[in-house]
Amino acid sequence: MKRQDIEASITCFPICDYAFIQIKDIPFKEEVRHICRTECPRYGKSWSCPPAVGTVEECRSRCEAYEGGFLFTTMTEVSDMENMEELLSTRKEHEELTRRIKDLFIKQHQELLVLSTESCALCEDCTWPDAPCRFPQRMLPCMEGYGILVTGLAERCGITFLNGNNLVTWFSLILYREALEEPGTGKS
Ligand code: SF4
Repeated sequence: MKRQDIEASITCFPICDYAFIQIKDIPFKEEVRHICRTECPRYGKSWSCPPAVGTVEECRSRCEAYEGGFLFTTMTEVSDMENMEELLSTRKEHEELTRRIKDLFIKQHQELLVLSTESCALCEDCTWPDAPCRFPQRMLPCMEGYGILVTGLAERCGITFLNGNNLVTWFSLILYREALEEPGTGKS
């Protein structure tokens, strides 16, 4: 699929910003993994998060097996940014949109790696580590869990992530095996 075809297909989606990226521009940082390990309550609780996803180096090599990426954001307003329950409840819409955009790429590309935001919440109780993931085709590993400095990647791509008071910005990253054309940036 050509980049223009993807751009034409997503015009009807509520995407805030997007960019076609090169894999070499993804900043992998051990510091991000350190934050997961020391500050995130989801560390060691899900197949979508470390340590289940492997070391940062393993995540980097997995990503480097792809030829390009499509980074995009959506934005949602909440009444209180400190209210984690309300904030996380807005993520579902973003994840569904991510799966719809994934489908656009699947039509043209045989293999994808799709990363999204936060820990997977498809099941009330994750099977990790006792049994395989129940929905491996729907589960979206977390970008930060891969050791990706999401704000750094956004800055490199010219994507805004501080969108104002009470506005949550959700990110997803779709890696594909076939190059679409010269990577670049676009905004809807
Ligand atoms: S789909 Fe279910 S089993 Fe798989 S990572 Fe998500 S919560 Fe865990």
